[in-house]
Order: sequence, then C-alpha cells, then structure tokens
Amino acid sequence: MNNSTALKIALIGNPNCGKTTLFNQLTGSNQHVGNFPGVTVEKKEGSIRKHKGVTVIDLPGIYSLSPYTAEEVVTRDYLLQEKPDCIINIIDATSIERNLYLTLQLMELDLPMVLALNMMDEVRASGASIDIAKLQEELGIPVVPISASKNEGTEELTLRTIKIAEQQQRPKKLDFCKGYVHTAIHSIAHLIVDEAKQAGLPLRFAATKIVEGDEPVMTALKLMEPEIDIIGHIVEDMESHLKTDREAAMADMRYAYIEKVCAATVVKAGETKEHLRSVKIDNILTHKYFAIPIFLGIMLLVFWLTFGLFGAALSNLLAMGIDEFTALTSQAMQSAGVSPALHSLVIDGVFVGVGSVLSFLPTIVILFCFLSILEDSGYMARVAFVMDKLLRKIGLSGRSFVPMLIGFGCSVPAIMATRTLPSERDRKMTILLTPFMSCSAKLPIYATFTAAFFSEYEALVMFSLYVMGILVGILYGLLLQKTIYKGKPVPFVMELPSYRFPAPKTVLLHMWEKAKDFLIKAFTIIFIATIIIWVLQSFDFGFNMVTDSQNSMLASLGKLLAPIFKPLGFADWRAATALITGLTAKEAVISTFAVLMNASDTSAVISMLSEVFTPLQAFSFLTFCLLYMPCVAAMAAVKREMGGYRIALAAMTFQTIIAWISAFVVYQIGLFIF
Ligand code: GDP
Ligand code: MG
Repeated sequence: MNNSTALKIALIGNPNCGKTTLFNQLTGSNQHVGNFPGVTVEKKEGSIRKHKGVTVIDLPGIYSLSPYTAEEVVTRDYLLQEKPDCIINIIDATSIERNLYLTLQLMELDLPMVLALNMMDEVRASGASIDIAKLQEELGIPVVPISASKNEGTEELTLRTIKIAEQQQRPKKLDFCKGYVHTAIHSIAHLIVDEAKQAGLPLRFAATKIVEGDEPVMTALKLMEPEIDIIGHIVEDMESHLKTDREAAMADMRYAYIEKVCAATVVKAGETKEHLRSVKIDNILTHKYFAIPIFLGIMLLVFWLTFGLFGAALSNLLAMGIDEFTALTSQAMQSAGVSPALHSLVIDGVFVGVGSVLSFLPTIVILFCFLSILEDSGYMARVAFVMDKLLRKIGLSGRSFVPMLIGFGCSVPAIMATRTLPSERDRKMTILLTPFMSCSAKLPIYATFTAAFFSEYEALVMFSLYVMGILVGILYGLLLQKTIYKGKPVPFVMELPSYRFPAPKTVLLHMWEKAKDFLIKAFTIIFIATIIIWVLQSFDFGFNMVTDSQNSMLASLGKLLAPIFKPLGFADWRAATALITGLTAKEAVISTFAVLMNASDTSAVISMLSEVFTPLQAFSFLTFCLLYMPCVAAMAAVKREMGGYRIALAAMTFQTIIAWISAFVVYQIGLFIF
C-alpha cells in the first residue's frame, strides 16, 4: 500500500469531457482547455493543491481502450504499465451513455477507481437528474458529481480519490451480462490465468480484449498453439450464436448494460435545453451552402473588430508610449555622456527593434480573445466538421483542420496536435500543411505593412492573407495526395459539443498565455536578433563602424540574396535580410526593418516602408512572408514529428519554393492588372 505522500492519480475520459479543466482546478495550473476534441495529446503532470504528494496525470481523451489511435495507445500503455494508484474516470454527465462505455472498460483494469460525473451544472440546468447513490450501487464504484468549470465538488473528489487510492479500493463488480458473451469471457479467463499473470495484465481485461480480437494483448500473452485454437473455437461459437462479429458482440453487451443502468438512474428532461438549442443553431451554421460563407463572414468580422476597431487603435497608443519612452531614454543617455556607439545600440537597435514588435501586443491579444471565444463556444468544432465534409471530397481528412486551426496561433503546438490523427498518412500531410497557416507571429508583419500601404482595407488584406494560407495549404495537400501520400483519409466521426457560453476564465487564460508567449519572445529572441542585426549593419567586414549602412556586412549579405527576389518585386537588400532574420521568429522581420531603416520610432518605420515598396510589391512581400519556411522552432517540431532531418529539410525547401511561386504569381498578375 502507498502512503499518502506519494500517490499517482490518472485522469481518464472521453475527449472534451472536461479533463483539462478538472486538471487545472486540481493542480492550479494553466493547461490549454478547448471546446473541441483532440486538444490534449501529451500527458501532463501536476500535484494537487494542498496535497503536494499526490500527482495527477492528464491523459489524452479516448472513447475506448482499443489499441487503434495514438491517444488510445498512450493512455492504455500508461494504465497498464504505470499502474496508477487510482483512476479518476471523468465523464460528461450530459451524455452519460456514450461516456460509460469507456467506464466499463476501465473497471476491467482492476485498479482503484472513482467516477467523476462532470458538467452537473448543465444537467441541472436542463432539468434532468441523476440518482448518484443508485448509480454508485449499479456500477460498484464511487461516484462524485462535479462541475469542473465551476469548481464544484472538486474538493470532495480530491478527498474521496485520496482515500480510495490509499485503501486500494477496487471496482466491486465486473460481470455485466449473462449469455454467450459472458460464457466466452469466463471460459477464456480460465484458460489464460497464468499467461495474464506472467504478462502483468489484469485477467478480466485480458480476457475481454481477447474476445474482441485485440492484437497487442494476444501478443503480450504469448499464447501457445492449442490455447489459440480453443480461443478461436470459443469466439466462433459466440459469434455464430449471436450472429455478429466479436467486436460488435462486446459493444452490444456493454451498451445493453449501460442502457439498463441509465434507465434506473437517469431522469431525462426530454431533450436537454442545450441540445435542442444546439440543433437549432447548427441548422444554420453547418448548413450545406451557407456554412462556409458564414465562416468567412465571421472571420472577416473578427479581423475588422481586431484591426479596424480595437487593436490598431490600442497598438498605436502603445506605440506612442514606447516612442515617448525611447525619446526619454535617449535624452537621458545623451546627457549622461554615453558613447555614440552604445547610444546607437540601445536606441536604434534594441528600443526600435523590440519596440516595433512590442506595440502589436494589444492587437494579438484581442485577436486571440475573439478566436478563443469562437473556440470555447463550440463554433470551431463546427468549422472542422464542415471542412471535413468539404475536404473529404478532395481526398483530405477534415480532422487535419483542427491542427490547422491551432496553427493560427502557433505552428509548434499545431504540429504536436497532429498526434491525434489516427493514420500516419493524414498525420504527415497535416504536419506539412500546418506551416502555411498564418501564425500569430506573422501578425506584426501584416499589421505594419497594412498600416503602411493598405490603411483603408486593413481587415480585408488581413483576411485575404489568412484565407490564402488556408487555400495554399489545401492545394498543397492535394498535390501531396496525388504524389507521395496516395490513399484515402481515415474516416472520422467528430463529436459536436453543445454550444456553450464561453467561460470568461478560459478566454482570459488564452489571452494571457498569448501575451506571455509574445512578451517572452520579444525580450529574448527578438531582443538578441535585434542586437545582432544592429552589429552587422553598423560595421563593415573590417569591423569599422560605417556611417551608411549600405556599406555594412549585413548589406553585403543582403545584396547577395536580393536578386532572388527581384522577380517578386522586392530586390531591396533590407527585404532579403529581414526574411533571413525572420527565420529566428517571424516578428523579427519587422524589428529588422526598423533597425535597418534607422527609424527613430515605430511610426517612422511605417512611413519609411513606403519608400522601399510599392503597394503591389508590399503585397507580394506579404505573400512570401506568409508562405515561406517557418521559424526555427517550427522547423524543429517538423523534424521531430516527421522523424528526420532530410525530410524536414526537403519540406522546408519545397515550402519556400511554393512561397516564391505564389509571390511571383501575385506580383505578375498585379503588374498585369495595375
Ligand atoms: P478535455 O478535452 O477533456 O480536456 O476537456 P476540456 O477541459 O478542454 O473542456 C472541454 C469544454 O468543456 C470546455 O469548453 C470547458 O469550458 C467545458 N467544461 C468543462 N467542465 C465543465 C463543467 O463542469 N460545466 C460546463 N458547463 N462546462 C464545462
Ligand atoms: Mg484536454
């Protein structure tokens, strides 16, 4: 038995049932909560507040303990190998039938277990009710009603869980049926007692998995020829009596039992209010023809609100503040008699460089406020659903769209999120498509350029870049599907969560996360990149300080590359240099321009840009920025997930070629029209 100073508690449940919300409540941490399936891909650990010795592990959401998807494998292996001291099986009480399917399988693991009935606030609001005592008795495991997002019942859950873990209180009941399935499970269980013990597998679990035909379990048991024969007969016998296959037989048995339990414990209030409302809303938002136009309309509105109404104004305000601060510091340094080189480094390098990026903080935070409202309300799940139907027609999986949406924030977590895709083919394709999305780091580039060139159509230009990213991604997917990744996407059933009023806490958390990441980046990567740029543009190869940056080391390097971009309309050496530094982090494109143009402040950058580009050239430059190879962090993620330098390198090269071609087409068509 464990003492209370070191307990491991595993959090298991279906996708989107509130695991991460509960995890955050229990541990006080800030993991990403999202109202669509597939957000949690890696297991996360944390210790419970006020019970520091008790570790909770948030595992990927699963519907079943079968070994098919990556999440199932991760979760199942964890349970079988690590044998946590207790399982908290969290279920969405508003769809209790579907959720209990996993519960029945977890009980077979013979680990101490408690059932956390989540979303009780919604159950209550809908007028339904669940007889907790009865449910507890029927299932033979403790049941605790909670509302994770409202932090109701979580204290009680913690205490009950610790007690169950300490006393190693296992499920009381394992037999849910009589008849043929029952006979098959028991006959097989008798047969494999020793093998299961040898393999360290719970007997009951091993037996039902064999009935289902689970390959990994069969292999792990190292069964002998005669036993395999007998098992074959037992299963055939069961199948012929029930006239279904083995997996269906097990599923039917489980659902039959669940139905019985629910009939005895759940009082429905007709359909839940939330559900009825969701169906009504979905009739419009996922409409056959209107769905995509509505999505585009909503995104356009979001961009208009962000860039047209709030963000730009706030960013300007912040930029003014930064300029003021820069001027003051500059004066202070001058009166203190600081050397001109150091003065230039601090003011023309760091302040202008970091400042030009920093001023976009409000814009980014506001954009992410809207995006997380859309996500938490359940709308983004609809978008993925609609996209699935559309993409499926051209041979792509709509499931890829979830990582692509996350890619609006940052490619790195998006690429990690591809682990939820069940097929290697879909997964690799999605990894390659994700860097085409407009990540938030590209936003300062767009925002500065639109302010300089398209100030009347800000929202529209932003919107066109986002859409262009999606379109090029889809076209690239098509190309891959016709060449190296032939085949059909794995079918996928997406649960559409009910629409919810977005939780202010979740939205604020997202905004804070974004702001934090952005600030950290500005003061680390961007800061260092700015210093390097300043040095390279202030000295020539003999390390003499230059008066005209045209003669600097950086200019020579930039000029070497500039001809490549001539056909795209921007042969300026500063543009070439900015694209190179943009590989450290995309925001660096802007800080580089700021430093290279010797701008005194952010608004000077904007006005000086118009001397370097025409509007058409600017748009071509934006196109290239949108599509060319991602920053080093994303490259590393691609390398890790694709498993190799070579393929990652090839992918990056190819992506840059696509960017070049796209910008070329944009520029040439533009020249033709204007
Ligand atoms: P996970 O996929 O299981 O990790 O689920 P999340 O923790 O990401 O939560 C999914 C959605 O359910 C989010 O929109 C949460 O805000 C919402 N949610 C979680 N717990 C509750 C609850 O107790 N009541 C209500 N009404 N919503 C909840
Ligand atoms: Mg989660």
